[in-house]
Amino acid sequence: MKTTRVPPHTCTCGADNDAASHRNAIPSPGDVSLCWYCGELTVFNEDLTQHVPTEEEMVEIRANPAWHLVEDMINQIHARKQKDN
Ligand SMILES: [Zn+2]
Repeated sequence: MKTTRVPPHTCTCGADNDAASHRNAIPSPGDVSLCWYCGELTVFNEDLTQHVPTEEEMVEIRANPAWHLVEDMINQIHARKQKDN
């Protein structure tokens, strides 16, 4: 797992996310990111800042063959959060 510094993004949960961990590629514009603290999805902009996906983007993201992996990760994050509380 590698980590790349990205411009800081304050998640709706309050986490200041300023790095992206990934197995292979560095983050690219249009890539999806997950907040490790709450599981919120964001999409990288051209300058690698992030925004919450629009409804249209969510339709595209859910149609991706890898969506089930993202969904599994979101579920794991939510389960961990419940366990911690
Ligand atoms: Zn968050």
